[in-house]
Amino acid sequence: MSNVRRLSGYCMFKRLIFAGSLFILPLAAWALVKPMRVLAPQLEGLTCDEWVCIDDTSRRAEATGLYRDALNFVGSSVGILHTVPRAVFCAKPACSDKFGFTAALAYDVGTAGIVISHRGWRPYLIRHELIHHLQNERLGWIRARLFKPAWFREGMAYSLSQDPRQQLPEPLQGYRSEFEAWFKQVGPAKLWAEAEHL
Ligand SMILES: [Zn+2]
Repeated sequence: MSNVRRLSGYCMFKRLIFAGSLFILPLAAWALVKPMRVLAPQLEGLTCDEWVCIDDTSRRAEATGLYRDALNFVGSSVGILHTVPRAVFCAKPACSDKFGFTAALAYDVGTAGIVISHRGWRPYLIRHELIHHLQNERLGWIRARLFKPAWFREGMAYSLSQDPRQQLPEPLQGYRSEFEAWFKQVGPAKLWAEAEHL
């Protein structure tokens, strides 16, 4: 094969890879990064109103009530949310599977949304995820997730959500104690300012 033909073959190959990746990468992301589905839960058969997406419409009122209570709680006792995240409530195990749940009961997706599994419909778990949303808003998602200490991130969420479990599995129990000792010194007014320095 001449150099020219080899080159054009190579360019063609690169072009094919590029064209293929345009189609394949979003599909792969959709399939592999299940939390991304929170961006368009309708594609998974959920129905959404302003805030709440759900797989079983007969439980929409219950989900909306839980969500409204959690928003009020976190807004008044932890901090004002700049945006209300979308909340995906899975009522059935099949929905939880689609959103990638294994051991977790709920998770946050940056400032885009929170996802509640069919086993996670508890007021304190929804408050917990909204506190992560608040951390993401105030400190930045990547920064909060990667650069803030786990005792702050998780300790705060377990403590200020008023999680009723007296004893959490370690290391979470330790995180909560460490946060509570720090918070006692810092106080609510300086919470975010001091969190900047952690
Ligand atoms: Zn957490």
